Amino acid sequence: MGGQAMQTDAPKMRQEVIDTCLKVNALGINQGTSGNVSVRSGEGFLISPSGVAYEAMTPDQVVAMDMQGGHGGGWRPSSEWRMHLDIYRTRAEAGAVVHVHSPYATALSCLRRDVPAFHYMIAAAGGDSLRCSDYATFGTQALSDAMLAALQDRSACLLGTHGQIAFGPTLDKALWLAVEVEALCRQYAIACQAGEPVLLDEAEIDEVLERFASYGKQPEASAQSDG
Ligand code: 13P
Ligand code: ZN
Repeated sequence: MGGQAMQTDAPKMRQEVIDTCLKVNALGINQGTSGNVSVRSGEGFLISPSGVAYEAMTPDQVVAMDMQGGHGGGWRPSSEWRMHLDIYRTRAEAGAVVHVHSPYATALSCLRRDVPAFHYMIAAAGGDSLRCSDYATFGTQALSDAMLAALQDRSACLLGTHGQIAFGPTLDKALWLAVEVEALCRQYAIACQAGEPVLLDEAEIDEVLERFASYGKQPEASAQSDG
């Protein structure tokens, strides 16, 4: 099954997985071979190989997986393939997944508390909080189950004493959200050091979610004339 996915996936997408891996480290939201990246492809998905230095990663090492957890090729998929698979299985809108150990998100994940609505951008993850999952050992189904619970109605969450995970329709959007989650965690940590943040209420966050639905959608004509 995995072999079939290998034949049909685009080589360009394999390179895009590697490019996203390189970007997370260059952006300072990950370190070393921590973290992993995947993109939906055909009947399955393409995922970064386990423990391979991003600078040395080549397209043939990116692993094609099917939706039963099978894979082809001679490289082992990321140890966190279960989290990626479970997101694709349960969230039809997910086209790509980025997991990183970004410093502030990871630091806050060690407190095992949800990040509340201290800033309106918290709604970027889909609701009025960024949840923190329970702890489970990396690479286990228990971790993936804890993640799915924390991801209910959200497209990102903290992973208890581990890091963060974010998904989106494309690799660029999943990467953008992972960067946003890190920015929010940094802002929240700074605000908490300075005092007690005033939290937005449910109605205020609902209003933000409504505005987000149309935010950034430029009329095509004006977008073209601007460009
Ligand atoms: P992999 O190198 O297997 O993707 O593992 C990195 C990681 O972040 C585990 O949680
Ligand atoms: Zn990890």
